[in-house]
Amino acid sequence: MNWRDYCKKVTPYTPGEQPKINNLIKLNTNENPYPPSSLVVEELKKLIEDYDCLRRYPKPNCDMLEEALSEYTGLSRDHIFTGIGSDDVICQAFTTFFNSSLPVLFADITYSFYEVWAELVGFPVELVPVKDDFSIDINDYRKENGGIVIANPNAPTGMALTLDQIEEVLKFNKDSVVIVDEAYVDFGGQSAISLIDKYDNLLVTQTYSKSRSLAGLRIGMAYGNPEIISKIKAVKFSTNSYTLNEPALRIASAVLKDEKYFRDCCQKVMDTRAWTVEEFKKLNFSVLDSKTNFVFVSHKNIHATDIYKYLRENGILVRHFNAERINNFLRVSIGTDEEMKALFKVLGEMKEI
Ligand SMILES: *Cc1c(COP(=O)(O)O)cnc(C)c1O
Repeated sequence: MNWRDYCKKVTPYTPGEQPKINNLIKLNTNENPYPPSSLVVEELKKLIEDYDCLRRYPKPNCDMLEEALSEYTGLSRDHIFTGIGSDDVICQAFTTFFNSSLPVLFADITYSFYEVWAELVGFPVELVPVKDDFSIDINDYRKENGGIVIANPNAPTGMALTLDQIEEVLKFNKDSVVIVDEAYVDFGGQSAISLIDKYDNLLVTQTYSKSRSLAGLRIGMAYGNPEIISKIKAVKFSTNSYTLNEPALRIASAVLKDEKYFRDCCQKVMDTRAWTVEEFKKLNFSVLDSKTNFVFVSHKNIHATDIYKYLRENGILVRHFNAERINNFLRVSIGTDEEMKALFKVLGEMKEI
């Protein structure tokens, strides 16, 4: 035996490119085009004054942030879990809840990290095909399972289920944990947070990365009833007591006070999205109905790989997934109005379009 025989073998997730070239228009990783709240600057200034605080470990319970989120959501602290981005939160949740020999159900077209974690944690999966129009049919989730994950709105399609549909899934599946990944919910989706007191099997995850323009800070959270939260906390405290760092805890707590700025940025993205959809349609693209900060588009005549290459050569980066069913689609993040105008200028000059 050699160490290679008992080394964990996993195929890692491939994140969207973070290019070295500076002047690219970056519409490939669903980052927010607007800067984070200016309260970040205030907190950073305070941190300079108080940098000695970094000598100490941060509070292991993420007290400050959990309290701030409790005040923000109206939920008591025992309904709240925080982690290093929702990727960390979701991975901890998978480790905690998906230990059945029955398959965990999630869509064949969804956040591709779910399959990576399934392999890492080691549980069986059943991919549930989305319909031909890429919608999720909740009736497909009426079968025995070891858990359910639904990204709502879904990625990379951008399409959303209603709160009633999510509730139907919860009703059929009272014996399974249902994780609803709401990474994009602030751009027009309906949150399932209102259901957590009614369904003890529901865990809702959210993130600061998209709607709060803080992908670089790595803040994610989960909401659920106290029992489900206590289980995920037990796993977290068996992994690493000090997850979030002190600057992140302070900044993430402070920016919740800037509600108007936050809502205004989300609204601007949604307005730009509406305009973007119309422009794509004018150029013979079909566009899925998006409730997110990106659109998923396919051209009637030109293959997505050709458009992807053409855009990249012209300084615009979008996301192409080389995966079955969606390889003729591009996922285009919503940038500023200027960035989207630049995109359509370049696209309009494409010969075959
Ligand atoms: C971006 C994203 C996440 C993870 O975001 P974090 O930056 O780790 O908070 C989770 N789920 C979906 C569907 C996403 O698109």
